[in-house]
Amino acid sequence: MLIQQALQQARTLGVARLDAQLLLAHVLGQPREWLLAHDDELLAPDPAARWHGLLTRRAAGVPLAYLVGEREFHGLRLQVTPAVLVPRPETEILVDWALELLPVAPAATAVDLGTGSGAIALALKASCPAAVVAASDCSAQALAIAQRNAAAHGLDVEFAQGDWWAPWPGRRFGLAVANPPYVAGDDPHLAALRHEPRAALTPEGDGLAALQSIVAAAPRHLLPGAWLLLEHGHDQAEAVAHELAQRGFVCVRTRTDLAGLPRCTGARWRGAK
Ligand code: GLN
Repeated sequence: MLIQQALQQARTLGVARLDAQLLLAHVLGQPREWLLAHDDELLAPDPAARWHGLLTRRAAGVPLAYLVGEREFHGLRLQVTPAVLVPRPETEILVDWALELLPVAPAATAVDLGTGSGAIALALKASCPAAVVAASDCSAQALAIAQRNAAAHGLDVEFAQGDWWAPWPGRRFGLAVANPPYVAGDDPHLAALRHEPRAALTPEGDGLAALQSIVAAAPRHLLPGAWLLLEHGHDQAEAVAHELAQRGFVCVRTRTDLAGLPRCTGARWRGAK
């Protein structure tokens, strides 16, 4: 069968045309542009069978990033497996905000809590090489992926295993960022995300528990003047802002995502209290 015929057939499986092309390009080890320029060539039975297997999994809702094993985030190509959340475009807003603050952050130190694939920490280090960047995750499997991504890009990030701030008792940072699990445990949206690690998506309950623990322990881990930036659900900005103000943070503000929804809230730690 010719490549163009195979791509036509893939439509009947209910896989988006772009995804079908990207999966075939992946199987053939070629860029997508090559496919389009060579769609009158024959597709051999072996790659055809492997591609069909991937199309079936895509049709079953497996994220494209897991099927091709990578995702681009903030200009970095990152390896991803089902052990980590697929990095999302809205999280780049958190990174951009952090990058505005990092050059002037106390001691030029930053921490990414619950790093997963390492996306946020690596994007910060890549754009601000002079900064000291640390990152935690409670999952050893996730940290292994993050470390591989760091090595692939030659980025020196200090990874440590543990919940949020736990790996660093007594240590203070000049900037902290986190994209913790924040989806409510009964959110119907979770069904569509079933192939990703549930613990990275939801702390169960109303979705606020992880955000609250991060804010609660932050005063013990931030230098005076340090910012704490948090990604959250579209309906959680008020709760997060309240939590920050309650704990003694100042300059509380919220930024919206690409859809115009409140997505990140941050505030400045004013010092000992
Ligand atoms: N933004 C993600 C989603 O709803 C959730 C990420 C998270 O819980 N940190 O798809």
